[in-house]
Amino acid sequence: MHKETQCLHEGYVPKNGEPRVLPIAQSTTFRYTSTEEVAKLFDLASPGFFYTRLGNPTVDAVEKKIAALEGGVGALCTSSGQAAALTAILTIAKAGDHIISSSSIYGGTFNLFAVTLKRFGIDVTFVDQRADNATIEKAFRPNTKAVFGETLTNPSMHVLDIERFATLAHEHNVPLIIDNTFATPVLCQPFAFGADIVVHSTTKYLDGHAVQMGGVVVDSGHFDWTKGAFPEFTEPDPSYHGLVYTEAFGKAAFIVKARVQIMRDLGCCQTPQGAFYLNLGIETLPLRMERHCRNAEIVATYLAAHPKVAAVTYPRLPGNPDRALATKYLPNGCSGVISLILKGGREEGARVIDALKLISLEVHVADCRTCILHPASSTHRQLTDEQLAECGIDPGTVRLSVGLEHVDDIIADLAQALG
Ligand code: PLP
Repeated sequence: MHKETQCLHEGYVPKNGEPRVLPIAQSTTFRYTSTEEVAKLFDLASPGFFYTRLGNPTVDAVEKKIAALEGGVGALCTSSGQAAALTAILTIAKAGDHIISSSSIYGGTFNLFAVTLKRFGIDVTFVDQRADNATIEKAFRPNTKAVFGETLTNPSMHVLDIERFATLAHEHNVPLIIDNTFATPVLCQPFAFGADIVVHSTTKYLDGHAVQMGGVVVDSGHFDWTKGAFPEFTEPDPSYHGLVYTEAFGKAAFIVKARVQIMRDLGCCQTPQGAFYLNLGIETLPLRMERHCRNAEIVATYLAAHPKVAAVTYPRLPGNPDRALATKYLPNGCSGVISLILKGGREEGARVIDALKLISLEVHVADCRTCILHPASSTHRQLTDEQLAECGIDPGTVRLSVGLEHVDDIIADLAQALG
């Protein structure tokens, strides 16, 4: 099926007389008639729902839909995008391990990696994603367990060369994890370019209406955990009566381990109500992404020609250094997000944001309503100027998330504020 059809029909097919719309299974638990049946569920010997932290019919339907959209073998919804990244990493790495990440990533993820993971004993090396292979090679260590990057980086709007990073990761027998939040599976499918695991903040375009917090981890099923140094996949798990994930679940070893071990123990689950809203959002995702991309390209072109604008980063603009990568990985558009710097830097940026009337100042991005933010004083506030530069952010960078209003109205508001 095409993306448009999948977005509407994957994950839930009602039987005769059942609700046409995915119902909300607003229940933490599920009734059974024999202890033997429940024991089998706990042993993972038979499928079924028994407790919503580990699985719920509404959440399950959305997980199946997102797995289908990304072309994966399974997905796990989480309580937020932060929880998705953390779940993906903790399923693979433990204290004493090391991961490599592009430095051009969302500030919250940067902080999670640079500070909190280090507290967990997982070391992280940040690399410039535009550095050559020889430089990136130097970051690998014997205890490296994964490589991480964003398809379209937040907020610098660089495009990751997914295939190159996948090759580098696989040469060292480790998986590539891609945060595909800005691109969504409608604009880019990282698994087709060698990525092994995808994470999303579903709080963004997948929902699209700013009504639920959520995240998702998707498993391609392609990574061979028996080849690298992943004993937690290939040796008995004492917390599951000696279960060996690769033997019991084959291609789905990663996503099952993420659910039954990390989700079970950390508990960062999506709610049935949240999954219901997320599902409604996904139903119109292809339509919305088409318009987000179209509006953003027009707005980016307008801003690039404006005398008060010093720089505009939108990968499809002529002269953008990532234009060839955008053509390869994002042939149908680069989302609604634009990064720009005004002449006059930080102060002028603040003045323009304060003068906007239709476009609102929000700690959000990828919403159907156009919104704007100054990362250095908000989402990336914890970062030093040096770390900001590593993330590709100027102190004056403004992130504009172009919504679904008529593009003339968006430009009119920008014009009056810049004026
Ligand atoms: N990844 C990206 C690219 C993001 O933009 C964000 C949030 O802005 C996150 C992850 C974290 O997601 P959440 O805010 O849902 O925890």
